[in-house]
Order: sequence, then C-alpha cells, then structure tokens
Amino acid sequence: MEYIILIVVLAVLILTIGGTLLLRPRGTRGIRRGRAGGDLGTGTGTETSDSGTGTGTITVPPPAERPAEPEVTKPVLEKPPPSAGRMVRLRARLARSQSGFGSALLSLLSRDRLDDDTWDEIEEVLITADVGVTPARQIVSDLRTKVKVEGTRTPDEVRGMLRAELLGQVETEASRALRTQRHEGRPAVILMVGVNGTGKTTTCGKLARALIGDGETVVLGAADTFRAAAADQLQTWGERVGAEVVRSDKEGADPASVAFEAVSRGIESEADVVLVDTAGRLHTKTGLMDELGKVKRVIEKRTSVDEVLLVLDATTGQNGLRQARVFAEVVDVSGIVLTKLDGTAKGGIVIAVQRELGVPVKLVGLGEGPDDLAPFDPATFVDAILGG
Ligand code: GDP
Repeated sequence: MEYIILIVVLAVLILTIGGTLLLRPRGTRGIRRGRAGGDLGTGTGTETSDSGTGTGTITVPPPAERPAEPEVTKPVLEKPPPSAGRMVRLRARLARSQSGFGSALLSLLSRDRLDDDTWDEIEEVLITADVGVTPARQIVSDLRTKVKVEGTRTPDEVRGMLRAELLGQVETEASRALRTQRHEGRPAVILMVGVNGTGKTTTCGKLARALIGDGETVVLGAADTFRAAAADQLQTWGERVGAEVVRSDKEGADPASVAFEAVSRGIESEADVVLVDTAGRLHTKTGLMDELGKVKRVIEKRTSVDEVLLVLDATTGQNGLRQARVFAEVVDVSGIVLTKLDGTAKGGIVIAVQRELGVPVKLVGLGEGPDDLAPFDPATFVDAILGG
C-alpha cells in the first residue's frame, strides 16, 4: 500500500514538472507574434496566447526587460525635392566654379582703352574657358561693334552688354524640356548614353530622383551590363526613392534584352517614365553603333524612344567634344547632360557643345550629392558666370 502511495506521489510530481516544461516554448512563440503586433503600434505588456492550449494569458516583461531582439529595418523611402528651381539653388556652386572667367572678361572690357591687344586677350579668355574658337571670335566681333556704337561704358553697361552677348550664345530655339509624359497609354522612354566615367549611371539615379520628386513613377533599366558595379549602383539609387530596377544578374548579359525587359515592366506597371542606362564603351564606332542601335531597335518593338540624353563630363574639354561627335553620329541625340560643371572653370563648353551638336543642354550636374542635378537655365548660368 505504501508503495502504491509513493508511486502515485511520484507520478503527480513528474506530471507537474513535465507540464511546466512543455508550456515554456509556447510562451516564447507568442512573444514573437506579439512583436509583429508591436510593429503596428499595438504592443502591450500582456499578451494572450491563442494557441488553443487553454493556458490563458502569459505576462510579458515590459520592453526594457525584454531580451534584445534583432531589429527589422524597413527601407525608408526618401522624398526628393522637385526639379523646379534647382539651378537657382545650385547657383552659388556654379558661381564658385565659373565666375573666374566672367570677372576676367568684365575687367578687360572695363579698361579705358580697348585696343587690339585687349580684344585678343578677351578672345583668349573665352577660348581658355572652352567656348570654342569660332564662337569666341563671334563674341569678340559682336562686342567690338556694340562698344563702337554705344561709346561710353559704365560698369553696369559693360555687364549688361556681356550678359546679353553670352545669353545670346547660350540660348537655343530648341526646347530644353524633357519629354517625360506618358503617351498612347505607354511610359516615356529615356535612353542615357555616354562614355563610362562621365557620370552616366549617377545621372540616371539623380534623374530618377528628380522625376519622382516631380510626382512621376519611374522604372530604371540597368542595361550597362559591362560594368559590374553599374547595376548595383543603379539598384541603390532606385531603392532609396522607390523606383523599380530591372537588371540582369549575369555580368555581360545582352544590354538590349535588359532594356526590353525594363520597358515591358514599365508598360505593365503603368509607369510614367522608363530610364535606361547603357554601356558607353567607345571601343570602335561600329561596335558602339551596333550596341546602341540594337538597344534602340529592341525598345522600339514595344514603344518609341522619347529622349536620347548624351552625358558629357564638362571637365574633359575637347576630348568630351570628340566623344560627343561620335555619339551624335551613332544615335539621334535629343539633349545633353553636362556633368561635373562644379569641378571646372570651363563652363564655355555649354556654348561649344550645343553649337557642335545642334542640340540643347537639358540638364547639368553640379555636384556629387543626390539632388545636384538641375534642369539647365541659361539666364541663371550666365548670371553665375558674371558673379551675379
Ligand atoms: P559612368 O561610368 O558614366 O556611369 O559614371 P558614374 O555615374 O559611375 O560616375 C563617375 C563619377 O563621377 C562618380 O564618382 C560620380 O559621383 C561623379 N559625378 C557624376 N556627376 C557628377 C557631378 O555633376 N559633379 C561631380 N563633382 N561629380 C559627379
């Protein structure tokens, strides 16, 4: 009999201990679920287990006492500023880099006597600023005539005269507006071309940001499949502002097929703009022509290409102009993006490149910051040159 009592007591003890141990893991599972609730801002100190075990409520220690849990970080989308007024915001940066040649011109033009040597010096300053020989001569000839006609030259008059002359050289008839409107139920397509290193991929990212800042939806196509980092770079830009990025995981994949996929995705998702980054290997003109030609043809199976933007590094001067010529022979360039204008005093390249290609500068890069890309505005540019 005593044995039976002992066995019953032991059995009760084993059952009690076993039950307690069995309940513990269930409690832990509840906390994890609760954490999800906490993410929605509903977390409380007490949580109810609904696992159907009939164990009622379990008490969760206040947050301070809880063991550290891994942080689940959600990417926070940035809200970029709209594109309007950016050039004015960046004018100081432009003035810092460009006003050197502006003030040299102003001081030469303010001399009491404007003899041939002075006019030669003026031409020299313009050429050094990459304006180009023919436009520099044109500017000097126009200014000479004006000085002769007007006679007197107060500092304000000199400034006004030079401002009008430079503005006349920078302004073009062609519109600088980017075609970014959906049409025929399809997104606008922008092809970004240029030699690697000019800032092409960065410009794609910056432009996507600016468009999103203007309220548009953007799909990015990473068709620069030859530079391993380009797709990653573009992906980072896209993730920051919520632009979908279409890329291939295979290095050296066919750029045309990535471009086709990106445009197809843009059509499907009813995006406003599809921006396609391309590879800019200037190996041979025929190679480049084949590559870009194919990308364009393949896109055109789905929709039209609305803009071909040629990205040029303003610091490369004549070399940049040579590149521009080759690209213009290969594709129909509709606009120029002049990058790194913050890093050169040779802003005259704006005049030279527009004249060379017959297409307007539409955007300018004025720094490495994500919002340092601005729609080009001639008056702000000329005022920055003149230190205004
Ligand atoms: P890609 O090879 O043409 O695609 O060139 P990237 O987009 O990789 O850019 C090359 C370098 O130029 C990067 O370090 C960029 O930050 C820099 N860059 C691009 N645009 C500008 C600009 O407007 N100003 C300055 N200062 N740097 C720029």
